[in-house]
Amino acid sequence: MMRIIDELRDVKSIAISGHVRPDGDCVGSVMGLYLYLKNELPDAVIDAYLEQPADIFGCISHIEDIKSDFNTDRVYDAFVALDTVPDRMGGAAEIYSRARKKINIDHHISNPGHGDVSVVEPERSSTAELLYDLMEPDRVDEEVAKAIYIGIIHDTGVLRYSNTSPRTLQVAAELVKFGFDFSKIIEETFFEKTYLQTQIMGRAILESMRILDDRCIVSVVSRRMMEFYRVTSKDLEGIVNQLQSVRGVHCAIFMHETGTQEYKVSMRSDGEVDVAAVAVKFGGGGHVRAAGCTMNGTYRDNINNLCREIAEQLKDK
Ligand code: 5GP
Ligand code: MN
Repeated sequence: MMRIIDELRDVKSIAISGHVRPDGDCVGSVMGLYLYLKNELPDAVIDAYLEQPADIFGCISHIEDIKSDFNTDRVYDAFVALDTVPDRMGGAAEIYSRARKKINIDHHISNPGHGDVSVVEPERSSTAELLYDLMEPDRVDEEVAKAIYIGIIHDTGVLRYSNTSPRTLQVAAELVKFGFDFSKIIEETFFEKTYLQTQIMGRAILESMRILDDRCIVSVVSRRMMEFYRVTSKDLEGIVNQLQSVRGVHCAIFMHETGTQEYKVSMRSDGEVDVAAVAVKFGGGGHVRAAGCTMNGTYRDNINNLCREIAEQLKDK
């Protein structure tokens, strides 16, 4: 197996980034690698680029080092892309394209591989778990461990989704040995919601509809609704999972308006529907049980277009 440090030992400047709207795995992986490389390569310039992470990630050491201004002419010796394809890097894509050595580390089945060194392992629960196995375990410290742990926790729904493997649990066990307060981290970064986040979740659930013989559930949040509850995209995390928890539902679709006739779509499934395949048809990607894309048009048209693909998959089931 490749060791990340062997790929970076001789470089003088490194940029690390992930995807737009960074989730727990993305933030945990980027910060885990950032903190690890800071320890290992004290003389190198190491910059982490990401859109401003949600406040819940404030417990990660040095999270304030993240650069959210992508306007730079700097040509980095190496760029490590975590949990993403170049198309989904947003402002960091240009920095990536200029970098001398490009390293891709991901667990998305929809990642076709890119860059000079590419490690894509779709059977991994999270990019964070994969990243841990590319590190020297005895060089991991408590702060690195915490960031990686957050990545794993978020992409596995606290070690409960079917992407959790024996290796995931072993890595989690090795990480909690550092003694950080994992229970507090889980509560504060995964379960705790603000009042307004809870309210909009309630509203989205209340207004959800079951379609395709109750095998699919959909809900939409408009920009007006988001303004009313004073929430942004980051506050909608968890809604689609809640919808997928309804008994009998094979597939949940949640979308929220991000621009004029533009919707960010999140999908979850119980495994009966391959939502990654659906998302890929609309320019997105993800995993069999969790995927997403961005769609243009009215939400009715979008639901119809998605449901045509889902109905096709469910027709013989
Ligand atoms: P979420 O619904 O939580 O935003 O994303 C679920 C999964 O699908 C995540 O693994 C995420 O990285 C992936 N995903 C979500 N939206 C997109 C997208 O627009 N493009 C691609 N390639 N993957 C996406
Ligand atoms: Mn991930």
